Amino acid sequence: MKTFYGTEADIDRAATLLREGGLVAFPTETVYGLGGNALLADAAERIYLAKGRPGDNPLIVHLAQAADADRYCITNALFERLAEAFMPGPFTVILPKRDCIPSSVTGGLDTVAVRVPSHPLAHQLIARAGLPVAAPSANLSGRPSPTCADHVREDLDGRIDMILDGGTCEIGVESTIVRIDGPDTLTLCRPGAVTYEQLCTVCGEVRIDRAVTEKLADGERPAAPGMQYRHYAPASPVTLIGGEHARAAAYIADRLSAQVGVLCYDEDVGRFSEAGLVRSLGARDDAASHAHALFDALRAFDAHPGIKEIYSFLPDMQGMSLAVFNRLLKAAGFQVILLK
Ligand code: AMP
Ligand code: MG
Repeated sequence: MKTFYGTEADIDRAATLLREGGLVAFPTETVYGLGGNALLADAAERIYLAKGRPGDNPLIVHLAQAADADRYCITNALFERLAEAFMPGPFTVILPKRDCIPSSVTGGLDTVAVRVPSHPLAHQLIARAGLPVAAPSANLSGRPSPTCADHVREDLDGRIDMILDGGTCEIGVESTIVRIDGPDTLTLCRPGAVTYEQLCTVCGEVRIDRAVTEKLADGERPAAPGMQYRHYAPASPVTLIGGEHARAAAYIADRLSAQVGVLCYDEDVGRFSEAGLVRSLGARDDAASHAHALFDALRAFDAHPGIKEIYSFLPDMQGMSLAVFNRLLKAAGFQVILLK
C-alpha cells in the first residue's frame, strides 16, 4: 500500500477516497484513525471488516468543528461548555444521534460519539472531505492502538485504501470519552489526555465508569462498549506490580531472565539489565511521556518472540496517569499484584 505524506494533492486524494466510500488511515493528536464516510453504512461495514472489529463496538465520528455536531446529534448546554473547553482536542462526547448517522456506525446504539481532532492533517482531511468521518483506531482489533504509520502498516497493509503519514502521534493514547447524563452531570467512560480533574472544572458532577478501573462482572455492561473487549494486549501475559516503588522494583528485579520483558521508567532501567527486553516509558514523574510511549512499547514486546512474560509498574490514577493505568490494566487483563 502506498504511503502519502500530507501534501495538498495527498489530502485531496484522501478526501476524494472518503467521499467515494474508501478507507483512509490518518494521524490525529491521539492515535492514528481509520476513516470512512460516517454517512455511508457501507463504509462503516468496511471499517469493521478491515479491523476485524465486533459489529457492536461503535465508531467515533470525527468533525471539522464543534459547531457541526448539531447536524449529527442532539446537543445541549453542557455539550456547549465542554466543547468550548476541550474542542478541538483529545475529547469525545456521547449524545443522542440523528437519523442521518447509520446505525452500523454506532454499533446499533441510538447515541453517537463525536470528536473534533486538533491535528492539522486530520482537520484538513475532514474539512476537505466535507463529511463527518467515522474513525476507530487504525489497528487490528485487540492490538495496541497505532501511534505511527508503521504500526498502521503492520496491522492493515492491503486491507485499506491509503495511509496519510503525519509522523508520531503527540499524545499516544486514545481520546477521553464522556457521556452526558444530566444538565451538570457526566460519566467518564474512557480516560485520556483531557483528565478527570479538568472535567471537574467544567462540570459539577463527574462519575468515573467502573469499567475504567475495575474488571466488570460477567454480563455487566460498560458505559462505552469498547471497554469490555480485551485490548492493547501483547501476546505474552502482562503483570502489573503495585505498592511502594522501591519494593515493586525489587520484586521485578528478583524475577528477571532472558524470557522476561520489563516496562519501567528511565530511573529504573539500570536495575533490569538481566531482562530479555526493557522498555522505558520516560521519566517516572512525566505521565505525558508514559502515554506517548506506551503503545509502541507494548508492540515492541510482540516483536521479540523470546519474551514469555512482561512486568510493569502499576501507575497511579492522577491526571494523565489514569489513562495509562486504564490501558495497562486492560493490557494485563486485570492481572495486578499489590505489594503491602
Ligand atoms: P476507538 O475509536 O477504537 O478508540 O473506539 C471508540 C470507542 O468509543 C468504542 O470502543 C466505544 O467504547 C466508544 N464509543 C463510540 N461510540 C459510542 C457510543 N455511542 N456510546 C458509547 N460508547 C461509544
Ligand atoms: Mg481502538
